[in-house]
Amino acid sequence: MTDYSLQTRLLHNDHKFDKQTGAVSVPIQQASTFHQIDFDEPGKYDYSRSGNPTREALEDAIAGLENGTKGFAFASGMAAISTSFMLLSQGDHVVISEDVYGGTFRIIHDVLHRFGIDHTFVDMTDLHSVATAIRPNTKLLYIETPSNPLLKITDIQAVAKLAKANDCLTFVDNTFMTPALQQPLDLGADLVLHSATKFIAGHSDVVAGLAATNNQEVAEKLSFLQNSFGSILGAHDSWLVLRGLKTLHCRLNQSAASALTIAEFLAKHPLVEEVYYPGFTAHPGYFTHTYQSKGAGAVLSFRLKDEEAVRQLTKHMEIPVYAVSLGAVESILSYPARMSHASMPPEERRKRGITDGLLRLSVGLENPEDLIEDFKQAFQYLDQRPKVADWGISREAK
Ligand SMILES: *Cc1c(COP(=O)(O)O)cnc(C)c1O
Repeated sequence: MTDYSLQTRLLHNDHKFDKQTGAVSVPIQQASTFHQIDFDEPGKYDYSRSGNPTREALEDAIAGLENGTKGFAFASGMAAISTSFMLLSQGDHVVISEDVYGGTFRIIHDVLHRFGIDHTFVDMTDLHSVATAIRPNTKLLYIETPSNPLLKITDIQAVAKLAKANDCLTFVDNTFMTPALQQPLDLGADLVLHSATKFIAGHSDVVAGLAATNNQEVAEKLSFLQNSFGSILGAHDSWLVLRGLKTLHCRLNQSAASALTIAEFLAKHPLVEEVYYPGFTAHPGYFTHTYQSKGAGAVLSFRLKDEEAVRQLTKHMEIPVYAVSLGAVESILSYPARMSHASMPPEERRKRGITDGLLRLSVGLENPEDLIEDFKQAFQYLDQRPKVADWGISREAK
């Protein structure tokens, strides 16, 4: 069913109804083990860590949507990412986006390091830095675009080319875009990774991770690792993710349209120092992003004066959930310095521009005008004086 648009394929795939009963919902196979009729010819399934029909339906779905040949479902986004890093061996080196998700930073910096897997953090938006960071033992270029939380844009195709020329793999964390907006395998990536907890499942009710590849060797090795590591997604959670997928296109498009409206409002507000949103033509990655994606997504970040401004705003906003995570039906306001990036040392945070005034907003399905009204009333509680150091600098000049 690859000829139809993704919007249609979200609803109509090989698992649109159950082959045995005709049920228009994938059955939840809540079984750990499967009866073997004949030990000479065991059935397709034997034990649910190795394979489960409900999980398999989700794995087929993500493979199809990412234009891959094989999909994988894991217990969380971090389980998908960590298991994929196990494709590496002692002595290997990874070049990775400097503003990756905090959990990815933690596994690479605090865990893999102990197993003799080395890394270099680079500004992936600068291809020259990527090229100069590649060493003879580099095996993987790891991209997150748009990055978290500053929404920086990496040219997937250019990095994948650089990787191929140096016999490296390219992994892309596609959580912020989902296959509805960006399909990294088509741009030359070998493996695409997701926290399905976010937009793909979309309802703040399940933690899940997905991976998809079109590289036969990667598919075989990752199948082996998924079974060896065992951090698989359960049948019930697989079903929840499958259900979330059906509405992905309309949820994401509606949220992205609202995100642009809110980003424009924030950019004009005198108490907001900076807004980061790849949908702005003035965003440095705008053209690259427009080339490789179908939309700017529903996540934006903005910078207030300081921690006190953040405290007042978050205390007085009524609509958004104030929490970690993103990509849900309800808007989520989060504070990277204390939440998603709390595991990053303050010095590393500052280097990456994750200052004490930075807030991230994941726009949900509320009416955007209500969210803007909410911002307006909450801004009234902030100290209205601009930062002294900023006096005399026009906003345009910054
Ligand atoms: C949330 C997130 C992860 C981790 O996923 P979990 O499902 O929380 O384990 C990885 N990458 C990005 C970009 C994320 O936002």
